[in-house]
Amino acid sequence: MTIHDERIRRMNDLSAKEGDYVLYWMQQSQRECCNHALEYAIREANRLSLPLIVCFGLTDNYPEANIRHYAFMLEGLAEVEEALKERGIRFVLRKGKPHEIALALGKKAALIICDMGYTTHQKKWREIVAGNALCQVMQVESDSIVPVETASQKSEYAARTIRPRIWQHLDTFLTGIEKARLEKPSLGLDISGEVLEDPARHLASLKLDKSIRAVPHFFRGGTSKAKGIFKHFIHNSLRNYDKNSNQPQTDDISKMSPYLHFGQISPLYLALEVKSLLKKEKEAAEAYLEELIIRRELAINFVYYTPDYDSYSCLPDWAKITLDEHRKDRREFVYSSEELIKAKTHDPYWNAAMREMATTGFMHNYMRMYWGKKILEWTPDPEEAFKTALAINNRYFIDGRDPNSYAGVAWVFGKHDRAWKERPIFGKVRYMAASGLEKKCDISAYVKKVDKMEAFS
Ligand SMILES: Cc1cc2nc3c(=O)[nH]c(=O)nc-3n(C[C@H](O)[C@H](O)[C@H](O)COP(=O)(O)OP(=O)(O)OC[C@H]3O[C@@H](n4cnc5c(N)ncnc54)[C@H](O)[C@@H]3O)c2cc1C
Repeated sequence: MTIHDERIRRMNDLSAKEGDYVLYWMQQSQRECCNHALEYAIREANRLSLPLIVCFGLTDNYPEANIRHYAFMLEGLAEVEEALKERGIRFVLRKGKPHEIALALGKKAALIICDMGYTTHQKKWREIVAGNALCQVMQVESDSIVPVETASQKSEYAARTIRPRIWQHLDTFLTGIEKARLEKPSLGLDISGEVLEDPARHLASLKLDKSIRAVPHFFRGGTSKAKGIFKHFIHNSLRNYDKNSNQPQTDDISKMSPYLHFGQISPLYLALEVKSLLKKEKEAAEAYLEELIIRRELAINFVYYTPDYDSYSCLPDWAKITLDEHRKDRREFVYSSEELIKAKTHDPYWNAAMREMATTGFMHNYMRMYWGKKILEWTPDPEEAFKTALAINNRYFIDGRDPNSYAGVAWVFGKHDRAWKERPIFGKVRYMAASGLEKKCDISAYVKKVDKMEAFS
């Protein structure tokens, strides 16, 4: 299957030059399987009759990352190294800033290929590489099913406005990708780099925030782990997915978000698997594709077109106005960030959610919504609430620092939502109550589930 032109962007005006190899600088799409940037790079290497090397720059300075994120990422990269080796491709891991590693290895490259990231620093790194490389730099987008600029040219208002834009392109982009064979293997090339056999050794050698512990007993990184969990989900839980989307006591969710965040699994791979079940499990498969494609790509659209996606200022005017009108409303409970993190509130359901997050690095979507809404309710003002929610989100979730993180937190404050009945503190922003949890789901069973998780950790 072709790699559509819409996925490919020329990043500078240079041409491919004489060089020892083609370089794929891997950053966002950390996988060997179903990776358009990798397959494009192999085809280009074959066209130029050159070997291909894949590099990764491992920095201990990645914005907001801590050992929980790194442990998961390194497990994934160890698998990438192995999988590339089987295809005759040398994986070069070097410690340093990602764009600097790409430029250093790029000096001897005929052509540099990079994948696409959507956050500000990811865009900036690519611009620096394109602006300073001595050869042509091409970017290939592989982490959105419909390329972000094809879906829309602007920040979309809500799911209902982006949905038809995405759907009109799905037949084109929801298609598999064939693996190409590298004609000139690169395993024998003499290029220095670290070997990833022992991720724990690398973890120990990096200067990282180690105050949040890694959670390998709940989530292990890597494409094969992601595929295993997904297979289990398809066989055991997909059929209940639509019915149980607000039932956090169940496990009828795919838990793919950590793998999607690090690019260890392709959204296209997941969507094609579920699409093949559309006849058998119509409602459930449709509901899953709505989340994986529409909601996820709405978040990508938001981050891509909203420079202040990580600030309170990103919220729609109606939400800022109504929250401002209610900023002086009396708050029955006010908690500091430390009290929140220690799960020391009066609300056992919220505390359970926070304990799940701290213990496992994950939380069911329904509880994420409740978790965020209560931070807005219990913090002295909405700006501080926004900052607090985003900081805890990004620190504790393995899938934190993702477009979904920014869109999810902003949703709590009205982004991508509509105005509701006015009430204290929230104004017209949607409210969630503990009594709602009691009515809609078996919240006591959820608390017990978290107790068990804590005991297991
Ligand atoms: C306050 C708040 C904070 C959030 N923080 C994050 C975060 O840091 N990282 C993160 O990846 N997601 C975040 N989300 C979105 C969502 O909760 C998670 O993506 C989802 O719960 C992950 O679980 P899963 O993979 O089992 O999802 P499933 O229900 O199995 O869905 C499959 C995939 O669809 C996508 N998806 C599902 N629900 C949403 C949604 N509401 N918005 C966007 N995409 C969605 C995700 O990529 C997910 O992996 C947040 C939501 C809220 C309300």
